[in-house]
Amino acid sequence: MNPAGSKHEYNAPVSERYDRQLPLFGTSGQNKLAAASVFIAGAGGLGSPVATYLAAAGVGRIILLDCDTVEKTNLNRQFLHREADIGRPKAESGAEKLRLLNPEIQAEAVCGLLTEENIEKMAGDCQIIVDALDNDKTRRILAAFAVRTKKPYFHAAVSGFRGQFASFHPEDGPCYFCMFSKTESEESKISENQTVPIVGATAGVVGSMQANEIIKYITGAGKEHSGKLFIWDGVSNTLDFIEIEKDEDCEICSKSAAKK
Ligand SMILES: [Zn+2]
Repeated sequence: MNPAGSKHEYNAPVSERYDRQLPLFGTSGQNKLAAASVFIAGAGGLGSPVATYLAAAGVGRIILLDCDTVEKTNLNRQFLHREADIGRPKAESGAEKLRLLNPEIQAEAVCGLLTEENIEKMAGDCQIIVDALDNDKTRRILAAFAVRTKKPYFHAAVSGFRGQFASFHPEDGPCYFCMFSKTESEESKISENQTVPIVGATAGVVGSMQANEIIKYITGAGKEHSGKLFIWDGVSNTLDFIEIEKDEDCEICSKSAAKK
């Protein structure tokens, strides 16, 4: 049964591209996706599934940021890029694939390193911040920016067969730093020059779950899970979560931090 009723309730302007998802959130949900603007930091192993599924779902504007060029070692997981893209900027290669997949949306490339100084210019006019990064230093710049500008922030990280993701809303609940302030994330313990092993499918699983959360957030469909850290273990095939407690003394989101 169609949970949203007859197909006739959908207005003609909505592309048939979205026929299979319209029963889940209707034309109003689809219009919300079309009106959404999403900044995705990272066009790699996580950025590939996140950006692909958001573009396919009809998110109207996607800004894809990456500072690297495509290397052969990326191709076991970063499916936005092809053999022929080796040497090209990842952001450009990725945005091009998104436009090929869905010409009805805007996909823009930003090539460069995210810094405290340039983040406002790069991400300031997007409504939603997506962390598909592979390093903790840039992640913290991104997460702090989201708190400062009161934008929803969707975190994910992967290593080996494992990954994690979490959603943070600006108006209530904890922020990324409530969880990863004093006890640093696993990833940040790894030296910057150390190569992290990773299974492409694991990045695909975690990035897809991250995209699913973003689509639910934008459309209002399904159940939201902000403030929980989900941990996927691809060896045992388990998905666990822990509730993140708001740290009243958090260096970023607490009332005292806001006054500084
Ligand atoms: Zn916090």
